[in-house]
Amino acid sequence: MTPFDTSLVPNGDILIGGEWRQGRAAPFASLYPADQSLNMEVSTASAEDAAEAVEKAHAAWKQGEWATMKPHLRALVLYRIADLIMQRHEALAQLQRRDNGKPIKETRVLVASAANTFRYFAACLETMDEEVTPSRGDYLTMSVYEPIGVIAAITPWNSPIASDAQKLAPALAAGNAVVLKPAEVTPLVSLALARICEEAGVPKGIVSVLPGKGSVIGDVLVRHPLVRKVSFTGGTEVGRGIARIAADKLMPVSLELGGKSPTMVFEDADIDHAVNGVLYGIFSSSGEACIAGSRLFVQRSIYDTFMKRLVEGARKLRVGDPSSENTQMGPLITAKHRESVERYVAIGLEEGGRLLCGGERPVGDQREHGFFYQPTILEGLKNSARICQEEIFGPVLVAMPFDDEAALIEEANDSVFGLAAGIWTRDYKRAWRVARKLEAGTVWINTYKLFSISTPFSGWKESGMGREKGRLGIREYMQQKSLYWGLNDAPLPWANA
Ligand code: NAD
Repeated sequence: MTPFDTSLVPNGDILIGGEWRQGRAAPFASLYPADQSLNMEVSTASAEDAAEAVEKAHAAWKQGEWATMKPHLRALVLYRIADLIMQRHEALAQLQRRDNGKPIKETRVLVASAANTFRYFAACLETMDEEVTPSRGDYLTMSVYEPIGVIAAITPWNSPIASDAQKLAPALAAGNAVVLKPAEVTPLVSLALARICEEAGVPKGIVSVLPGKGSVIGDVLVRHPLVRKVSFTGGTEVGRGIARIAADKLMPVSLELGGKSPTMVFEDADIDHAVNGVLYGIFSSSGEACIAGSRLFVQRSIYDTFMKRLVEGARKLRVGDPSSENTQMGPLITAKHRESVERYVAIGLEEGGRLLCGGERPVGDQREHGFFYQPTILEGLKNSARICQEEIFGPVLVAMPFDDEAALIEEANDSVFGLAAGIWTRDYKRAWRVARKLEAGTVWINTYKLFSISTPFSGWKESGMGREKGRLGIREYMQQKSLYWGLNDAPLPWANA
């Protein structure tokens, strides 16, 4: 029996210019990371397919039905997408679980968040005002917003349905065509989402989905002259390469990149909440989260007691079968990625780190068939150590004591990344002071990893550029145009001179 509802992704076909068909590159065997069983063979796109998808997306967009549809009617299509996602909520959550191995409880939340993202941007679209700007003469001035054209949306494997929705919803709301390139290893949910878009009434050709190799298809998309904007979520090095190409094309680009986020626990913090929050911040999603709180700073006066409780908590985390309601941590995405996490732990130990827990694969049960790795905590390293500076993207936490606030802020900011941070303290004045000094796009205070579609998200420094989410998220996919309406009956004075 197939492990999920295959009607969501019939034949593993991909979507190119409104046509579901096989791609021209070699098919990809999608594996379940929990036991390496075959999900299905999925067709993948070639470079020629990618170019064809862009050209057909451009033709569909130029035809104008979607771009010029009245905003309240386009919003209706987005509301229908949200409804269809919720009608297939459980099936999509199971598909996402098979695709990337996240625990089912987490994938259910991600699917619901994708539906909410479409609803939110539908509401933004319906209620978005354009501006009449203050006139400085006998003319009326207006600022209006128009779609850009063909958008390439490139997404990573860690939360596919949520990342896809965060790009598709505002880009479609704004009246663009989208060529979506999911991560090579997680194509399933993106294909299912595209079928839903079609069924909801998005015109043919406005959405294409191209599973396959990023270095081939992604590259074709970024360089293609008819792609007018790239919205990318992924690693910093790939993002930097895209930005270089975009600079040559003078093309706008949004980049949501990597992180190495600091969490700091002050001696006056609510310790129960802080222990739970730190564990959740790093080990949920097996640490495969851009915003994972992977550097921990604990005030020295409570360091030993806090670390004892943290390690006890980490040892109790339930690592296992993603289909179980009880599981807190699933497997890592691939064998290769687990090896990279293992290499980083070895580097940490070579640099003088001490292992407090984890640092190994679970052994002796069925988890040996999957890519599991135990929650891992190290101490005894300086913030300058490689494993404190480089993104590991796995369940690995490095803990360090701190003495005073000023030095803490220096160390927390001593990173090329600036994605997120967490502060645990009961002193609201200190929380304010520290939060305002942190170089990060998001700061959580006495909480961690909470997300709201109505609040903008962005990375500072090498964690990215551009914004996603929030009311103005839709404007990232529009271009602004100024209109001047002459109101003077007399000709322009220069002509009369
Ligand atoms: P990745 O950069 O390897 O791949 C991301 C996407 O880019 C994939 O679809 C991939 O196929 C494609 N790609 C690869 N090479 C390309 C190229 N040369 N041109 C165009 N596209 C190309 O990242 P990943 O391993 O899939 O995801 C993990 C990374 O994503 C981590 O660094 C993580 O921090 C980051 N991430 C960031 C956020 C955020 O919002 N800031 C969210 C999730 C993940």
